[in-house]
Amino acid sequence: MDTPLTETFRTTAFLGLGAMGMPMAAHLAAHSRESGGQTLVWNRTPGRAQEHAAQHGSVAATLEQAAVADLIVSCLPTSAEVDEVLAAAYPNLKSGSVWVDCTSGHPDAAPRQRDLLASAGVRFLDAPVSGGTVAAKAGTLTVMVGGPADVLEAVHPQLAFAGKVVRVGDTGAGFAVKAVNNALLAVNLWAAGEGLAILGLRGVELGAALEVINASSGRSNTTENLIPQRVLTREFPATFGLGLLAKDAGIALDMAEQARGSAPVIAQVTGLYRAASRVVGAQEDHTAALKLIEQMNGVVLK
Ligand code: NDP
Repeated sequence: MDTPLTETFRTTAFLGLGAMGMPMAAHLAAHSRESGGQTLVWNRTPGRAQEHAAQHGSVAATLEQAAVADLIVSCLPTSAEVDEVLAAAYPNLKSGSVWVDCTSGHPDAAPRQRDLLASAGVRFLDAPVSGGTVAAKAGTLTVMVGGPADVLEAVHPQLAFAGKVVRVGDTGAGFAVKAVNNALLAVNLWAAGEGLAILGLRGVELGAALEVINASSGRSNTTENLIPQRVLTREFPATFGLGLLAKDAGIALDMAEQARGSAPVIAQVTGLYRAASRVVGAQEDHTAALKLIEQMNGVVLK
């Protein structure tokens, strides 16, 4: 039988203060203050936690201190880092608590993490997020959750960074939906980049082309927002790493292969983003993948 959940979530801990974690944890800290609790923050590089505490009224903590929270939220690059942090936190975890992993993780990791946590009396939800750093700052992230409905019901009011929360299935389903969502982003972005490169080669003015596409059937978030704001401006602000998008497309491809499915477009796009990560740089913004298309075509998308 599952350990009964703690009745209040007075202490929340946030693990991983990266581009997403910093603003997400700020919302948790504000929510905790309003409800008389506290938010502990832990980061591998401790300076980020101290910065967060100074700016947002959270409490910088060691992993041992954070591990005893009633609710633990993690947001790390991949499930591999979550495994590492979970193993280090394990001896101090408190029975009756809940661990919500907002990493864009791998569906294979989720049941393993759930079972390890269950052995310490801790319940687990995979709960990756979408909306980027803009929605993280605004507290309007879309959260896709895998795991038991009663656990989600208990923690839902604590997810102060969320605009929309949807339970998409059992453990691992959140990670699966996130990977497919981001594979679609990767496909859209790459296809739009190729299309604009073709137009650029013909000498068409790309701003005018986008104006038409965005009033036509070829439009997408990439043509409406990402390309005009990040590519044509040549700014490529690094808010979501190219390496992370390649990882997400790779997870979608893993799922297709495990199910003996056929997803040749996602397979090809995964290879292209892996190449772009190597050639352009994994730490660059994901939109900088289009620099590889520029090199392939000898054009600049501006
Ligand atoms: P960042 O690269 O900005 O931050 C990564 C965080 O993980 C940092 O806090 C870093 O700590 C920590 N970290 C890295 N390696 C380790 C490790 N071995 N042990 C402990 N901590 C570690 O990533 P994001 O915030 O952009 O992304 C986090 C997750 O959210 C990813 O899964 C990503 O795919 C997903 N995501 C990102 C979005 C975005 O727009 N950025 C949007 C939606 C989802 P340190 O400071 O010490 O380096």
